[in-house]
Amino acid sequence: MSESQTEPAPRAPVLPDHPPVEVAPRVHVLTDDRIDLVPNVGIVVGDEAALVVDTAMGVRNGEQVLARARELTDRELVLTITHFHPEHGWGAQAFEGSARIVYNRLQLEELHEKFGTFVELFSSFGPHVAEQLEGVRLVEPDETYDGRRTLDLGGITADLVELPAHTRGDQVIWLPSERVLFTGDLVETRFFPILPDGDAHGSRWIEVLGELEALAPEVVVTGHGEIGGSELIRASREYLEAVRDRLRAARERGQDPKEVADEIRRDWADWDNPIWIDFAIDRFDAELRD
Ligand SMILES: [Zn+2]
Repeated sequence: MSESQTEPAPRAPVLPDHPPVEVAPRVHVLTDDRIDLVPNVGIVVGDEAALVVDTAMGVRNGEQVLARARELTDRELVLTITHFHPEHGWGAQAFEGSARIVYNRLQLEELHEKFGTFVELFSSFGPHVAEQLEGVRLVEPDETYDGRRTLDLGGITADLVELPAHTRGDQVIWLPSERVLFTGDLVETRFFPILPDGDAHGSRWIEVLGELEALAPEVVVTGHGEIGGSELIRASREYLEAVRDRLRAARERGQDPKEVADEIRRDWADWDNPIWIDFAIDRFDAELRD
C-alpha cells in the first residue's frame, strides 16, 4: 500500500505513555509521536473547568486521556472532538458521566451517518486497530452548537468554530488569549492531507486554511504530527494549492494526472503517507470538472 522503504510491523494505535507537554500556560498536549492513527490530544485547564480536545481511538485510550486530565485538574471537564473520525473521538465513552460532552451539530449528524461504515473500515486495517475498536459505541453529546460556541473555562476562553473541509463536520478550537489553535486534521505536520471522504472538499479546504492563517496563531496543534506555528498551516495550504494548480496546468497541456502525482511525491519527499496524494488529485480533478 505504502511505498515507504522501511515498513515496520504495524504498531497499535495507542497513545504514548508519557505526560503531556505544556505548549502554553495551562495548555497541555498528549503528543502523538507520529504513531499512525494516534492524534494529538489537548487538555486546556481553566480555573473553573478544563476542556479536553479529542480522546484518541477506543476505550483504553479514552481512559488514559481522562486519567491525564484528572492529574491536571479536579474541576469540571468538558470534552469536545475535532471531527467524527474514529482515531479522534471514539474514546468518548470513557468520559460519559465524567465530562460534559459538546459536539458541533454537523459533526454529530456525520457521526450518526458514518459510524457503522467506519467501524467496518477501520476494523479492516488489521487486528491491531480492530482490537482498539472493541466495545466502542456511538456517544451522544450533552450539547450541540451550530457555527461557533465560546466556552468560558475561568481565566481561559475557548472558541469552538465549525469549519468543514476534511470532513462534513470539522471544528477547530481556538484560544484567542493564548493564541493556540487545535486544527484537527485540517492541518497535519508532514503528513499528506486526507481527502478520500466523499465530504472532503479541496477548494474549500484552501479557503479554510486561509482563515486559520488569518488568526495568526503562535502555537498550532495539528491533528497528527509535531506541534509548531502558523508555518504548518501555510505548508498544508501550499500543498493543496500546488495540487490544484499543477493539475489544472496538466489538464490544459493534456498531460496525465499520474505524472502530477509523481512530481508531488518527489517534491514533498519528506512528508509521510503518500498514499493520500492520488485521492487529493482525484478530488481536485472532480472539482475542476464542476
Ligand atoms: Zn481525520
